[in-house]
Amino acid sequence: MTTKMKLIAGNWKMNGSLAANDALVKALLQGVGAPACEVAVCVPAPYLAQLQSLVAGSPIALGAQDLSAQPQGAFTGEQSAAMLKDFDVRYAIVGHSERRQYHGETDELVAAKTAAALANGITPIVCVGETLAEREAGHTEEVVKRQLAAVIHVNGHCISEIVVAYEPVWAIGTGKTATPEQAQSVHALLRAQLHHAANEHAAGIRILYGGSMNAANAAELLAQPDIDGGLIGGASLKAPDFLQIIAAAR
Ligand code: PGA
Repeated sequence: MTTKMKLIAGNWKMNGSLAANDALVKALLQGVGAPACEVAVCVPAPYLAQLQSLVAGSPIALGAQDLSAQPQGAFTGEQSAAMLKDFDVRYAIVGHSERRQYHGETDELVAAKTAAALANGITPIVCVGETLAEREAGHTEEVVKRQLAAVIHVNGHCISEIVVAYEPVWAIGTGKTATPEQAQSVHALLRAQLHHAANEHAAGIRILYGGSMNAANAAELLAQPDIDGGLIGGASLKAPDFLQIIAAAR
């Protein structure tokens, strides 16, 4: 039996300012105490240095929202995994649906980014999830399995080093959360796929739920057997809400 701590990761997306971040993180640090779960905030790249010093020595780990698949060189606008490491980044979101949708990220690129993170000691939080049209057409299983399959065999690394986030696209930022049953049934599919690929490690891999998770619905979602944490957008920008979600994860 593997024991794993849940992970509650905030995804700030393109929000924040030096002043707002300072106030938010100070409120989080004041309220977080000794959490029963792991906590991370995935912040915009320009604020990594600010966050590195704000969360140093605290129970809050630092995360990035993306990284380059390339190690260095002529890739204007990108940040390498090694650069993120310089700021003590522990997690990086990879393949978020907003990147897949607005930046054309393919399964292949997501796999390359996953490999770049792992090669540099950063834990990738790999996002998978179906759109509303895909769900309504009955393709949820096929889509999430294809997206997960792309990152399962990353050269030289054990799949147990990644975190998976199931984020149904129709639930992101819409206030329409998947029901605990809907989320659990997809998490169970993903767990079965991990079992098939990585047997003894599958139970230890964290599968987060994301998509309008908030202070009111977190406890019920986090009580599902295959939901091992949350990736939280909107509610991670409000300290009291994010703290309540953290408190619900045990
Ligand atoms: P949301 O975003 O919590 O605002 O729905 C989640 C995410 O996109 O990671």
